[in-house]
Amino acid sequence: MTQGPEDDDTSDTLAERKMRFLFALRSRGVTDTRVLTAMEKVDRGLFVRGTFSDRAYEDMPLPIACGQTISQPSVVGLMTQALAVNPRDTVLEVGTGSGYQAAILSHLARRVYTVDRYRRLTRDAADLFRQLDIPNITTITADGSFGLPDQGPFDRILVTAAAEDPPGPLLEQLKPGGIMVLPVGQSDAVQSLIKVTRSARGFDYEELRPVRFVPLVEGLGSE
Ligand code: SAH
Repeated sequence: MTQGPEDDDTSDTLAERKMRFLFALRSRGVTDTRVLTAMEKVDRGLFVRGTFSDRAYEDMPLPIACGQTISQPSVVGLMTQALAVNPRDTVLEVGTGSGYQAAILSHLARRVYTVDRYRRLTRDAADLFRQLDIPNITTITADGSFGLPDQGPFDRILVTAAAEDPPGPLLEQLKPGGIMVLPVGQSDAVQSLIKVTRSARGFDYEELRPVRFVPLVEGLGSE
């Protein structure tokens, strides 16, 4: 980005903002090199439209269409890190939103399925994935609390909207050895980020940190 004569010494370039963005991720605990590399490749500025686009490189959630939010980048990083994605994995994301999280996952996994209840969000995200030449994301409009029985089971499942409990169909669609990361709790309270690991014996639950997400809502959205 070139600076005009009206810019003073304190205004910063896009490159500087992106550098600070990555620094903020590291200082908030996103230390996994593969995750940081994936986040460096995905320009958050493309996923935030309109009036808030100039805040895309700040570590804060921002409003997107349909009354939803693009998550805070450090939370995206910490969730992605907790998911421990392997290059051969098939991943389900519930809650496409802007598509930002799915784009990051696409650099870490073999295939990503991402689901949102708003057609408008899945359509815009799919357009963006096409423009960015990302070939391994399948975007689907559906109620993600039922998972995708035809495409599963999955090695990894990431839910980016809060349910009161982990939805049964998602637990069922997790492969043995699989990991699911999701926020649980009431929508108007602080929620907990949970890591569920499926073993031969059953499910192990680990509480990671307090978070705040929009609620997982039943049925399809109106837009
Ligand atoms: N991961 C997104 C942020 C998601 S915000 C990003 O990177 O931008 C949470 C999203 O979950 C919203 O878009 C909301 O529409 C979606 N959502 C809520 N309930 C859902 C459900 N039952 N099925 C699918 N998507 C749902």
